[in-house]
Amino acid sequence: MSAARHIEIYDTTLRDGCQAEDVAFTVEDKLRIAERLDEFGVRYIEGGWPGSNPRDEEFFKAAKGLRLKQAKIAAFGATRRVGVRASEDPNLRKLLQAQTPVVTIFGKTWALHVRDDLRISKLQNFEVIHDSVAFLKRHVDAVIFDAEHFFDGFRDDPEFALECCRVAADAGADLLCLCETNGGRLPEEVAAAVDAVRAAVTTPLGIHCHNDAELAVANSLAAVRHGAVQVQGTINGIGERCGNANLCSVVANLQLKMGLKVVGAAQLRHLRELSHFVWELANIEPNKRQAYVGLSAFAHKGGIHVAAVQKNPQTYEHIDPALVGSRQRVLVSDLSGRSNILYKAHEFGLDVEELKPAARQVLAEVKELESRGFQFEGAEASLELLMRKGLDGDRTRSFRLIGFRVIDEKRKEDESPLSEATIMIEGPDHHVEHTAAQGNGPVNAVDNALRKALLKFFPQIAEVQLLDYKVRVLGGGEGTKALVRVLIESGDGHERWGTVGVSPNVIEASWQALVDSFEYKLYKDRKRARGKRAATAAPPV
Ligand SMILES: [Zn+2]
Repeated sequence: MSAARHIEIYDTTLRDGCQAEDVAFTVEDKLRIAERLDEFGVRYIEGGWPGSNPRDEEFFKAAKGLRLKQAKIAAFGATRRVGVRASEDPNLRKLLQAQTPVVTIFGKTWALHVRDDLRISKLQNFEVIHDSVAFLKRHVDAVIFDAEHFFDGFRDDPEFALECCRVAADAGADLLCLCETNGGRLPEEVAAAVDAVRAAVTTPLGIHCHNDAELAVANSLAAVRHGAVQVQGTINGIGERCGNANLCSVVANLQLKMGLKVVGAAQLRHLRELSHFVWELANIEPNKRQAYVGLSAFAHKGGIHVAAVQKNPQTYEHIDPALVGSRQRVLVSDLSGRSNILYKAHEFGLDVEELKPAARQVLAEVKELESRGFQFEGAEASLELLMRKGLDGDRTRSFRLIGFRVIDEKRKEDESPLSEATIMIEGPDHHVEHTAAQGNGPVNAVDNALRKALLKFFPQIAEVQLLDYKVRVLGGGEGTKALVRVLIESGDGHERWGTVGVSPNVIEASWQALVDSFEYKLYKDRKRARGKRAATAAPPV
């Protein structure tokens, strides 16, 4: 039985990833991400650059308390400065103080940088690399040499770039990582350069690519195909400028497409979860269209596609989404037919057989609403309520509006306006509740007043939080006469859901979306109480 070639992952989300615009992890975030990376099966976790900021130094201190199963923490830094002995270089000393089992240092391999940036001779550059690697190697288990700008350097002066690699190897580097630092080279150039290094040294090779030409993943795969045994990258590809090689795609491609062994099959099923975890801690909205793990990665909209994937998912899916922890989704849109409605009903855990007679009616209603500007792709809770109504008529409603009024008052030019809403609703058993509340704007005031009224009947409304509120002006009308669509995302700590409203009046559109949001919370709590969880068996055909 021949075992598949093993490729190790060196994650630099916590170092290169932190150099991305809009990304800042706290020490606590970094520790949590490190634990997840370890569970996922990453071999090395680059924690930061101890010489560059106090936060990274703090991380290395705290990381000693982590109980990692198999990952090793690496500290990152530069070769010694010119004219200083390695043992006296403050940055190299800081690297040792981080007390990690692995240290990674980058050095220059592009003659242009040596000449114009460092302004030293080639020979001096070899000495810098040799001294730094040899010094570290005397103190740490493993030293990785990052050959910065290797591919541009190889193009410019191949002999010099290769000699830098030989020097690092001779000095005792355990692995040479070839860096595509500027992110502009093509896969065939990467392949040829990797071949040349393999012919020059016997030290294992790694690859570290940036995504400036959108080729970081392709270049990483090319390097592996030509013998690299380690891939460096970041989760979701976050990193400087256009980012690093996205490890989510790298790992999935290496394992599922190239048949190499990277992580365990069970670990791979946590890929989507890991991706979302990192987006969440980075406080960045996940990219829907992200390969393998994005919300839309296995989403089908066109009626023909939907009908086909229901018969056999392979018709429009390149892998089984479950392998990476993703799932198939069917979107309800104006392209959809009755089968989409039934698919969604099944997904929502509704009784498909019961809904079948009403499916045409529900579809007609969805189409009618869509023609008026509604959109249910980001508002599945509104759609589920609509289906529920198709089954039960109006019986599922928890409350009814008798009336509301909003006053928006601005007294002075330089003062913020004040909004106040009064509301009257009818709850269970015809009880009427009449309340008022203020807000920082009219929608906020209506939201506060409605919550206050509903709390009298339904204490669980206190759990509902408004997480996102989007207003979109729909084309067609003129200026302020146009229709607006409001999308609200709500959550209660267990689940998030989206609802929608459309009207020429922004308060009315917001009202519709708010009512659906609260109705959905009450409806789903009832559903849970009945223990009717959404079935996950095969969808109906
Ligand atoms: Zn980098």
